[in-house]
Amino acid sequence: MPENFDAIIIGGGHNGLVTAAYLARARRRVIVLEARELVGGCAVTEEIWPGYRVSTGAYLSSLLQQKVVRDLELEKFGYKVDAKDPAFFSPFPDGRCLFMWQDRAKTIEEIAKFSKRDAETYPRYEERLEKLARVAEEMLLTTPPPFPPGGMGDAMEYLKLAGSMRGLSKREVVALIKIFTQSAADFLDEWFESEEVKVTLATDGVIGANGGPRSPGTAYILLHHCMGGVNGHRGLWGFVRGGMGAVSNAIAESARSRGAVIRTSSPVAKILVKEGRVRGVALENGDEIQARIVASGVDPRRTFLQLMEERDLDPDFLEDIRHFRSEGTSLKMNLALSGLPEFRALAGAPGPQHKATMHICPSIDYIERAWDDAKYGRPSQSPLIEMTIPTMYDPSLAPPGRHIMGIFLQYAPYTLRGATWDELREGYADRVLEVIEEYCPNIKSIVLERQTLTPLDLERRFGITGGNIFHGEMSADQMFVLRPVAGFARYRMPVRGLYLCGSGAHPGGGVMGAPGHNCAREILKDR
Ligand SMILES: Cc1cc2nc3c(=O)[nH]c(=O)nc-3n(C[C@H](O)[C@H](O)[C@H](O)COP(=O)(O)OP(=O)(O)OC[C@H]3O[C@@H](n4cnc5c(N)ncnc54)[C@H](O)[C@@H]3O)c2cc1C
Repeated sequence: MPENFDAIIIGGGHNGLVTAAYLARARRRVIVLEARELVGGCAVTEEIWPGYRVSTGAYLSSLLQQKVVRDLELEKFGYKVDAKDPAFFSPFPDGRCLFMWQDRAKTIEEIAKFSKRDAETYPRYEERLEKLARVAEEMLLTTPPPFPPGGMGDAMEYLKLAGSMRGLSKREVVALIKIFTQSAADFLDEWFESEEVKVTLATDGVIGANGGPRSPGTAYILLHHCMGGVNGHRGLWGFVRGGMGAVSNAIAESARSRGAVIRTSSPVAKILVKEGRVRGVALENGDEIQARIVASGVDPRRTFLQLMEERDLDPDFLEDIRHFRSEGTSLKMNLALSGLPEFRALAGAPGPQHKATMHICPSIDYIERAWDDAKYGRPSQSPLIEMTIPTMYDPSLAPPGRHIMGIFLQYAPYTLRGATWDELREGYADRVLEVIEEYCPNIKSIVLERQTLTPLDLERRFGITGGNIFHGEMSADQMFVLRPVAGFARYRMPVRGLYLCGSGAHPGGGVMGAPGHNCAREILKDR
């Protein structure tokens, strides 16, 4: 018997699940079809070694929108976050180290070790960033206005947007424009003199980016990473109890509680179109499911270039999608550890350093050189490394006395020159451990297991084209009214009944739930 639903969601990533949960709450019959055997996409917890429950992809939460948490009652379904404190720990080759804490006064004391002037500046910097983040944040749950604007109605939408800048002074408006266009290094140079302070803050500007700290546009990524919060405290990042999969599972449970059907191990092969309107999907196993609405949480290139027939799409739209850049430069390693890494710069374990995001990034030049390698198709010989140990907050993730460590690394280009990731993977993982060893001499002796996910592996495992963690570069030419492509930023795609609800839509990637939330709102408006 053919199955009938009002809406089909392709992909059970957290955004697809958010769309499904909102539609189910509006009493729509909705089904989520997920290719893998578990939901969550990049936000999953997987037992990759017996007794170790690992956040194999995303590892920290902050961006998840409070409105989504409230509307979908995620806390009732198990979502709980421990705010990370200290936020950052950067050990330096000269034996010094810098902490950044939740407590601003403690952070200022730390910064003063490097520069008294920077310590005085820091509160003003934080206030400015917070103010800019608040304005930018208002746009996260907003549907971008029509582009290019047509009539008076469209112009009104732009005016409404301009209204969100009302509380800003002239200087702050200039700062807002600059942050969307500047490099992270230029932005930070205007505030700070200490290399150690600048580089610790600059890391947020290059995580997931296709660019170095001196590439224009990276200042926005820095702002993007300041837009969330934990338990109502803005700017904080935290570890999710049960790993990142607990976020996705909470959303899935919320959706199920309102009647959504979620089917795993169900890869979609084709989006079915008849006379310019969607009519459902065909699964890889040959089954067909019908619905007048299909929302794809899969990245734009995969959605339109693999799941659709060329003849069903407008040639100009297709051309623009082919130009949508979605090659990533991030690599993730997950380790099972028998103990904790001991830092040359700060003896003792456990210590506060193990609760922080631990950076290996001695200088802006170091990161820029790491990017130089990637520009020419080589993984960085000396990469920027971020390490986190979730078991410091949730020991139940590993057997007693053991730890999990996540390593997130820039830059590992998806396209290599003269080699493949299948050839380089293990040798490069050895190199990464060598770099860490310079700061933590005991690291190799405590590694029990390791998993290395190159951009190619991220593509294969999570189904993200090019291994781009945001479904597509978050650069000015692929943001807001231009995401995924000009004219289609309002979640409706060029075939009637077809929507995009994943990170390839505004406002982009991260475990945020915003594209999924906004897409559901637009679907409900259309019916
Ligand atoms: C290694 C890594 C680390 C990250 N770290 C963080 C972090 O710490 N914090 C943070 O906020 N963000 C982080 N991110 C980014 C963030 O995880 C992603 O941007 C976000 O989770 C994407 O969510 P999504 O729902 O839009 O898409 P996805 O999570 O990509 O979900 C898409 C889903 O579609 C499924 N799918 C694909 N093809 C098909 C098909 N044909 N049929 C059916 N299903 C299909 C996939 O299996 C997947 O489940 C990280 C990402 C990665 C990869």
